[in-house]
Amino acid sequence: MPELPEVETIKLQLEKLIVGKEILAIETDTPKMVQPSVSIVQKVTDPKDDWQRIIVSLSGGLELRFADLRKFGWLKLITDNTELKKILGGYGPEADKVTLKEFGEILAKTSRPIKVVLMDQATISGIGNIYAADALNLAKIDPRRPAKSLNSGEEKALQEAILKVLKLGIKFGGASDQFYLDALGAKGHYQDHFLVYNRQGEKCFNCGSPIKKIRLAGRGTYFCPECQK
Ligand SMILES: [Zn+2]
Repeated sequence: MPELPEVETIKLQLEKLIVGKEILAIETDTPKMVQPSVSIVQKVTDPKDDWQRIIVSLSGGLELRFADLRKFGWLKLITDNTELKKILGGYGPEADKVTLKEFGEILAKTSRPIKVVLMDQATISGIGNIYAADALNLAKIDPRRPAKSLNSGEEKALQEAILKVLKLGIKFGGASDQFYLDALGAKGHYQDHFLVYNRQGEKCFNCGSPIKKIRLAGRGTYFCPECQK
């Protein structure tokens, strides 16, 4: 799943390129991914990418192409603010904008494992498996701890760690350990700077102990049992 740094990287790139451009045509081979309906084609083809689903032709000769292997994404024309608010209402505050007070209140409400809470988009949005693991390592907190068990010092340390890893993620253009490419088709480089994510058996940068991998709520979870308590 793209997390905040990947989405932010693409947003910043697209902002410069497409804001103010006129949409001339939209075509797709997957009608359920576009609302309202647009011209349907048999197959959107691109020699460089098998997963192209939607092509938006823009003024100035630009094309915005949407690739999505699993067809979970969508494109929607929104004409009024009420509808936008309704969509955004399904998400918690953005991870880089939540205040320490809000963050504390969110954590105090639940005894679910802290990593699971961080990754729940309806609670806090923008953090997925990669940045949750790295932020918890930086804050020296065990991913399995019940969220409400964190004291105020740990909440503060975790919030600061989240901001730090998200900022690093944006600085390196996101993480391309799997399929992620930015708006211009380039890879990000945060995968070269993972703290614990995908580093099972390697040394923790805090204390030198080996990183362990466990499963938590069905997801591979990397942490250092020595310094994350
Ligand atoms: Zn450690």
